[in-house]
Amino acid sequence: MKTVHIETWGCQMNVHDSEKMAGILLAQGFATASAADHADLVLLNTCSVREKAAAKVFNRLGQLRLLKRERPEMIIGVCGCVAQVEGEAIFRRAPWVDLVMGPRTIARLADLLEEARRDGRSISLAESGDPVEFIPGTAARARGPKAYITVMEGCNKKCAFCIVPYTRGREAYRPAAEIVREAGEVVANGHCEVELLGQNVNAWHSAEDDFASLLHMVDRIPGLRRLRFTTSHPGHLTRRIMEAMRDLPSVCNHLHLPVQSGSDRVLRLMRRGYTRDRYLAKVGFLRRAIPGMALSTDLIVGFPGETEEDFAATLDLVREVQFEHLYAFAYSRRPGTPAAEATITVPEVEKAARLRRLLTLQEEIQGARNSDLVGRIFEVLMDGKSRMDPAVPKGRTRCNRIVHVPALGRAEGILDVRITRAHAHSLSGVPASSAPAA
Ligand code: SAM
Repeated sequence: MKTVHIETWGCQMNVHDSEKMAGILLAQGFATASAADHADLVLLNTCSVREKAAAKVFNRLGQLRLLKRERPEMIIGVCGCVAQVEGEAIFRRAPWVDLVMGPRTIARLADLLEEARRDGRSISLAESGDPVEFIPGTAARARGPKAYITVMEGCNKKCAFCIVPYTRGREAYRPAAEIVREAGEVVANGHCEVELLGQNVNAWHSAEDDFASLLHMVDRIPGLRRLRFTTSHPGHLTRRIMEAMRDLPSVCNHLHLPVQSGSDRVLRLMRRGYTRDRYLAKVGFLRRAIPGMALSTDLIVGFPGETEEDFAATLDLVREVQFEHLYAFAYSRRPGTPAAEATITVPEVEKAARLRRLLTLQEEIQGARNSDLVGRIFEVLMDGKSRMDPAVPKGRTRCNRIVHVPALGRAEGILDVRITRAHAHSLSGVPASSAPAA
């Protein structure tokens, strides 16, 4: 039996794209291999959001060259956004690569593999507006309670820093009936949590339906315990969506809502299409309407032209919102994006210093917020083992906090957990039934 090993970089969209690729290959008779060393087929599913990600891919290709020398029959493929950006250049820079496939053409994987075997090389890249063939029901999903479901591909935004619209193309929406059918199937197969995926997930619409209607449709699936979605754009976060989050029992009280900057001037330069006040108004509504509402965000520091005053506005916004979690990035120039042309840039040392200041502030906020939770009881869906100590089962609350439960033998099921210790990035607790009264 032939084996495949897939390595994935980047966001949840890429993780799920890899599951779709694995599904196609399992249907072709492949088995999965846990390492590249003995695999017949190695696919790198790549991300090009930041410059370093592409450099890492070429580094990894350098390592795989040694394996290919030992086993010339092995097939190496580069998939995802780096494949779309670099295209044919990958064959020139790494001639030992056999297959190049952009993120919009995953449905062609079996044919491309056949072509690579027959002709020695195959490539498939999509134009921005090309139709997307959604591949329902074939993904080989990771074990665990959560199942990802794609609702849309692409992104129609034109954020000045972001390469995604150029790599993933224009938005294409999956019909509601197909999404609901797939959600029903995964729940019937034992996944009790569904996460709807799209680069701009809350922009999803189809015929008369908007994203709030889709949440209502998925929420009705019997057996579904938790519903999440990512990534939301603040501009598309309508009152209807926020009310659906408040009213629907399965929708979790957590939202990832990238703000990118706390300065209106920088938000304008970034072409984000909202102001700090409009963002804060939505956060305020969510926090007032939904008990225990947790928020996470993405922030970029050192965007071209960002001054110390702009950065101070970002720190100020972080203090005001008190995010449960944040992902912060130093701005990385992406050729072809509008911001890449900027002449006033922030020096790398200054970007690094701002990143450190932002992360230090967030650690303080998270530490304090998590400490406040000691003694409280949360519903925890167990989903795996601690990364630091594989003997310790871990799960997540509905508000997406990681909770370690060392007293449990296995990471299974949903249970109430009393929080006994707080850390900066996680919590620890004991099953509430066994905890002494607080
Ligand atoms: N579609 C989402 C949005 O625009 O809010 C997420 C897009 S991206 C895949 C994930 C995050 O990477 C962004 O929210 C942003 O913070 C960060 N990012 C994107 N381009 C970047 C760049 N050129 N430099 C640094 N960070 C970047």
